[in-house]
Amino acid sequence: MINDVFHRPDFLLELLNAVPSMLMIVDSDVRIHHINTAMARELGLDRDAVFMTRAGDALRCIHAAKAPEGCGTAEACRDCVLRNSVTEAMEGQRVSRTCAKLELLAGNGTTDVQLLISTAPISYEGKSFVLLALENITELKQVEDSLRASEAKLRNITTVMGEGVYVLDRDMRLTFLNPEGEKLLGWSEKELLGKYVHDVFHCRKADGSELHAADCPVLKTVYTGTSHRSEEEVFLRKDGTMIPVALVSTPLRERGCIIGSVAVFRDITEIAHTTAELKRLNELLERRAATDALTDICNRLKFSELLIQEMREFRRYGHQLSLIMFDIDSFKRINDEEGHQTGDAVLRELTQLVKGNIRAADVFGRWGGEEFMILSPHTGLDETAQLGEKLRGLTETHCFNCRQTVTCSFGITQCTDKDTLESFTNRADIAMYRAKAGGRNRVEVIDAEA
Ligand code: GH3
Ligand code: MG
Ligand code: MG
Repeated sequence: MINDVFHRPDFLLELLNAVPSMLMIVDSDVRIHHINTAMARELGLDRDAVFMTRAGDALRCIHAAKAPEGCGTAEACRDCVLRNSVTEAMEGQRVSRTCAKLELLAGNGTTDVQLLISTAPISYEGKSFVLLALENITELKQVEDSLRASEAKLRNITTVMGEGVYVLDRDMRLTFLNPEGEKLLGWSEKELLGKYVHDVFHCRKADGSELHAADCPVLKTVYTGTSHRSEEEVFLRKDGTMIPVALVSTPLRERGCIIGSVAVFRDITEIAHTTAELKRLNELLERRAATDALTDICNRLKFSELLIQEMREFRRYGHQLSLIMFDIDSFKRINDEEGHQTGDAVLRELTQLVKGNIRAADVFGRWGGEEFMILSPHTGLDETAQLGEKLRGLTETHCFNCRQTVTCSFGITQCTDKDTLESFTNRADIAMYRAKAGGRNRVEVIDAEA
């Protein structure tokens, strides 16, 4: 059951006046029968004074003011949107909305007012009226125009740039992409407008793993308000290919508030290729400089470096550190009798044999000629002597690709607090020569602490 009060005319009038939008009830000649409080207040109109006045006269339209008989009689009135909207609403009996600019007299001059006009036909006691709702959108239009102007300026500037530029709003959605950006990404601005483009083209890292929004430099700019620079981004093009890019992202501010970000990026495919190639060559050079070309194990230089490093650890933590030096017995004879190439093959074969029988933590290097070193961290003298013995036996019984039996002599010692690189290696050398002097194919140990 509807409360009867809603049907009383004074209540409906009350309702009309309570609406915060500007409302006006006019007849077919656009004569005002009623304006609500919002309209009277906003346009400074006297409600009684405007009663039965034509809207153009009440609002002080300049065309109406120039015409001798006011609103509706000037040449320009034929094109008046306000008047035409009313006619249309009455004839078509339908609700419509349209935007229009009215030129009004204001003080000594004129002013342009942008209005959003909505119309609805009303029929009451056999008479036809139109309810006009007016919304002053002048400021909104001005902001829109200046936005459009600055966007056009931005477009002009960024068109001649050789770099891609895109703009995100505060919701991190794309509002602008310049032609170079379109070219680099393969997407048109139209396709990306309003999209959360992080998911479209910036969701991967160079290694193919996911780039989370929290790590994205462009998004970070929006929520932290700080600029970000990165040379390690990748963008996914429309065709599915990836391009490495360098980008700079800067926050966009309006009256102190962050309203988005501008990202400027360039394709660094060529630089990335050159950098990767340089890195590869550097690594190769580094490896070559540290590796013995014949046996592919550490050369003397690298071995000495690792030895110094391990001696430093030994001094710091005091764990045991042992060293084996071994030398092929009568190697000159193999060379002399079977040729240098066979000698080389024996060196390589021996290296493989030893490599396969030491721990991953042991450091194996060629000290020079047919002399080798094994450094055993965290290993005492007895254990190392056992390893030496094992290697000696394996060498003696291994079938090398030569006619003679290959044997080695081993010298073993452990590191002490007083040792230098020279004293440590010399002691291993002395032990090894003792093995030679003792008849070769032997293991000799010097216990430095005995
Ligand atoms: P010892 O048992 O006293 O160690 O006798 P040895 O013949 O092994 O020692 P010596 O120092 O008289 O000779 C070492 C030989 O090793 C001489 C040298 O030409 C050879 N040699 C050194 N480096 C290489 C190499 O890279 N390839 C080949 N094939 N021979 C090498
Ligand atoms: Mg030798
Ligand atoms: Mg030698």
